[in-house]
Amino acid sequence: MPASVLQKVPMLDFSRQFAPIRQEILNAIAEVCDSQIFILGPKVAEFEEAAASACGASYAIGCSSGTEALWLALAAAGIGDSTSAKASLDSLDGVITSPFSFFATASSILRAGARPIFADIDPRTFNLSAESVEEVLSSPSGGPVRAVLPVHLYGQCADMDAFRELERNHPGLMIIEDAAQAFGAAWRDQPAGSLGSAAAFSFYPTKNLAAFGDAGLVTTSSAAIAERCRSIRTHGMTRRYFHDEVGWNSRIDAIQAAVLKVKLRYLPEGNQQRRARAARYDELFRAAGLVGTSVKEGIVLPWTDPRATHVFHQYVIRASRRDALREYMASQGVGSEIYYPVPIHLQAALKDLGHKPGDFPHSEAAAAEVLALPIYPELRDDEQQTVVEAIWRFYA
Ligand SMILES: *Cc1c(COP(=O)(O)O)cnc(C)c1O
Repeated sequence: MPASVLQKVPMLDFSRQFAPIRQEILNAIAEVCDSQIFILGPKVAEFEEAAASACGASYAIGCSSGTEALWLALAAAGIGDSTSAKASLDSLDGVITSPFSFFATASSILRAGARPIFADIDPRTFNLSAESVEEVLSSPSGGPVRAVLPVHLYGQCADMDAFRELERNHPGLMIIEDAAQAFGAAWRDQPAGSLGSAAAFSFYPTKNLAAFGDAGLVTTSSAAIAERCRSIRTHGMTRRYFHDEVGWNSRIDAIQAAVLKVKLRYLPEGNQQRRARAARYDELFRAAGLVGTSVKEGIVLPWTDPRATHVFHQYVIRASRRDALREYMASQGVGSEIYYPVPIHLQAALKDLGHKPGDFPHSEAAAAEVLALPIYPELRDDEQQTVVEAIWRFYA
């Protein structure tokens, strides 16, 4: 490979997205300031309507974070009992999910007063494997399993054909999507957020659709779940100071909704650019002769299921000597990140669940091998070349 000019490539650079829409965003924020309505209100309603329509869902309920959205979706669907004193773990409603995700996927289940049950991932997509879920379902233990919570990791939908079949074969089982990384993604052209009974999105500033702070959203096409989400996010208060149930303060700020409504219009184009950046990485890695089908042979490129519309929240390779590679890249000024270095079942906070290394081998292998490379709509071709050259030099 030719040596390119030395340049730093940051893992993220939000300023490039902000520059061209700066005035539009500032105007939207100014409107909120002028209205003096800072929590919920008309700006939030406008964003919710636009977001529901973008997700092909009947309802969208804004809230204060993706974590809160997961909790709200579970609570509103009647899963778990977050108001009771801590019962024994075994007697709680079970929710099956992936151990290879951000911690909030599992902690929100516990917060909802339910029990996270893990099943391993499909090593090609890094998403929860419906087959592993079926195995868990056929070896019952503890309380009833009420829901499956697949995560659309890195911006690619989990295998919803398989999860829908699971839903058909197990009456009463709900599918709740952790779509935190997948706004704009789709499965057979049906948008994330419309694929289960309810879905949770995050607008954390690194996500494809990013707020200027914390914010999240629940989408659903069930009027009952939507109504209960709205109630729970404001202390179970459907009439001012009359509380029908114990909810919480999970509200979204109007300033965040105003920012998000502006950015939502640019999201399809941004996601398209991410796909183009991903295809370009594939091309550069192949041209450099770096690609293998396992880490023993080379870099393993991300795999996109032909039924999925991937939005490349992350572009994640598998690599041998991953930590040394990452250190070398950092020494060359090239950013990268590991999502996630420790699978959830081995996190210290969850040791009471009683898991040990070896319980979910695909998740553990992924945690040891994955490396996320810089990807954002504004990433330049020469920067991608710099990234791939740095990796080439490490293995040369
Ligand atoms: C970001 C994220 C969350 C949590 O969202 P916050 O807005 O940070 O609370 C949950 N699940 C996944 C998969 C995420 O990536």
